[in-house]
Amino acid sequence: MASRLKPSIDIDLSALAANFRALAAATPGAAPAGVVKCDAYGLGLAPVARTLALKENCAHFFVAYAETGATLRAALADAAPKAEIFIFNGPGEEALAEYHASRLTPVINTLEQAVLWASAFPGAPAALHVDTGMNRLGLIPADIDALLAIKGLNIDLIMSHFACASTPGAAMLAQQHAAFDEIARHFPGARKSLASTGGALISKDYGYDLTRLGVGLYGVGPFGDPHTDIGPVATLSAPVIQRRTVKAGDSVGYDATRRFDAPAQLATLALGYGDGFPRAGSNKAQVFLGGALCPVVGIVSMDLIVVDVTAAPAPVAVGDRAELFGPSLPIETAARACGTIGYELLTSLGARIDRRYLFEGAPADPAMLAPPTRGENE
Ligand SMILES: *Cc1c(COP(=O)(O)O)cnc(C)c1O
Repeated sequence: MASRLKPSIDIDLSALAANFRALAAATPGAAPAGVVKCDAYGLGLAPVARTLALKENCAHFFVAYAETGATLRAALADAAPKAEIFIFNGPGEEALAEYHASRLTPVINTLEQAVLWASAFPGAPAALHVDTGMNRLGLIPADIDALLAIKGLNIDLIMSHFACASTPGAAMLAQQHAAFDEIARHFPGARKSLASTGGALISKDYGYDLTRLGVGLYGVGPFGDPHTDIGPVATLSAPVIQRRTVKAGDSVGYDATRRFDAPAQLATLALGYGDGFPRAGSNKAQVFLGGALCPVVGIVSMDLIVVDVTAAPAPVAVGDRAELFGPSLPIETAARACGTIGYELLTSLGARIDRRYLFEGAPADPAMLAPPTRGENE
């Protein structure tokens, strides 16, 4: 498997489960929900959701779209048939049938969505997202009275989202917290949810009834650096497919952006921007290879990058695998070198990369990765 001369991503589902437990423990009393939008941040919707359900009894999930919610409902059919699946972006007319068929709970963001939902399914539970200052998505507080007047609307969870959850100490955290409490008073019977990963780690007071855990589950510290409560989940590696020695004065890669003052040992890796490795990492990113961090030299190509292994303590040969991020090179560090964040690095990873799922060091049980196919257990 690892010997294939292709990039691969190893996904440690036991580390995912451990991160879920650690983040749940940060806000005692709050139910931890798994945010699995965007194919579980690029790591695979079904394997991630099934691991959380089967190993951690996770019973609440969030995705962005109803069609993803329907896929998730099917993926959890045997593992967590009663799981609550919330749809962040809320309902449009065209998706109402899907909500019904897959028992999805909308997150209402506008008065229009509230009217649509309450008239289609009077009394059916819905979540409400109130915008407390981010000015991105959610009902504006001035519309609360109009919302409360809508007949048949049953809000059983109210949520808001922090603008500055990546910055402990940001003044906006306290402002949004106070605004949330103010609005929540209108919904005394509803559950409350304010925190994503960052909020859950910043204060127990942000836990309320339910936390919405995303990036931390996937091994990325929400504050831009590795976090002690969060272990690495994803390891991106790429094989060396050619070795060469260059002379003083030689250059490497497109546009010859990097020239060598002295002879150097180079290794060419099978991975490029076509796999989602950012071109912005050209001449900036590093990889772990030959027992050390080695710099990317020259421009990142579509399928290839070149690294300088001159200073590596161990010999580097064709077939050896370089780590782009993982236990030896934190994803937060790798992302920063490419001018981005761990969220974007993970969600950009391309379909060409082999995915391998592990649990406690061994290949994960196939039953954790996908539901049994129809007929198999009849
Ligand atoms: C994506 C998202 C989350 C999860 O955020 P993380 O920082 O990944 O934990 C929570 N709430 C909302 C509204 C989101 O859009």
